[in-house]
Amino acid sequence: MSAFVGKYADELIKNPKYIATPGKGILAADESTGTIGKLLSSINVENIESNRQALSELLFASPGALQYLSGVILFEETLTRKPPMGNHSLMSFQRTTCYRASKWTRALLKSPAQMAKPPHKAWTHSEQGVSSTTKLNAHGLARYAIICQENGLVPIVEPEILTDGPHDIKKCAAVTEVVLAAVYKALNDQHVLLEGTLLKPNMVTPGSDSPKVPPEVVAEYTVAALRRTVPAAVPGIVFLSGGQSEEEATLNLNATNKLQVLKPWTLSFSFGRALQQSTLKTWAGKKENVPKAQQA
Ligand code: 13P
Repeated sequence: MSAFVGKYADELIKNPKYIATPGKGILAADESTGTIGKLLSSINVENIESNRQALSELLFASPGALQYLSGVILFEETLTRKPPMGNHSLMSFQRTTCYRASKWTRALLKSPAQMAKPPHKAWTHSEQGVSSTTKLNAHGLARYAIICQENGLVPIVEPEILTDGPHDIKKCAAVTEVVLAAVYKALNDQHVLLEGTLLKPNMVTPGSDSPKVPPEVVAEYTVAALRRTVPAAVPGIVFLSGGQSEEEATLNLNATNKLQVLKPWTLSFSFGRALQQSTLKTWAGKKENVPKAQQA
């Protein structure tokens, strides 16, 4: 361990352990201004600061939400904004815990179906071995992780493989395993303190243009891929929802936790869309809908 990381080792080990408290997860509300615009336009709400602020206030002041959350991921604009909030709101919680962990704009991997095309900022692999693009992206994530740790921050390592395409679950599993193996090789090469990290991966599912499979099948492939590649030193794995519906993502996570095999890490959520869809729809940009949207 480098002296820079050693200086923060206690905190780096303590914080992800807390974030990975069983039964709690992360609300990923870190959509950039562009991405939030897409969500807002889906409910015919204009992408202006006052509307973005209204949405954050709605989310972060939801009564009772805190008991299910151990962390919130925010976009910088949201983090530095200071709306008036009650003491028990998520916002006051977030202010005291902010900047303990960090998430880099996720390293996107194109879906297996798209991998035949020349890579453009995407991670690819062939069946025979790890491509240089995959290695390069893994190296980038590992550099981000060690820089976080040298500054006392817990990196949330997010190598997402997009679901677009007609591929089956086996193909997704194979690609996920190759990518995760490359990521942990790179993290080790950079001497990242694995106990001071969290992994935010995709679940292993069929491509979005393929028929769905039951949650138990997703669980089996997902846990197998993780067991083969993610060291036991990692305290928590918090899945992204990646375009799954709220119910689908929740059932899949539940099945993953129920699977009767040794799982040395806590498995939980760091959902964006799968925690916000119903809330957004119920809110529809109207003040009078706020309490109902918060309930949702
Ligand atoms: P999704 O759960 O919508 O894939 O988002 C996760 C995330 O990281 C949001 O920034």
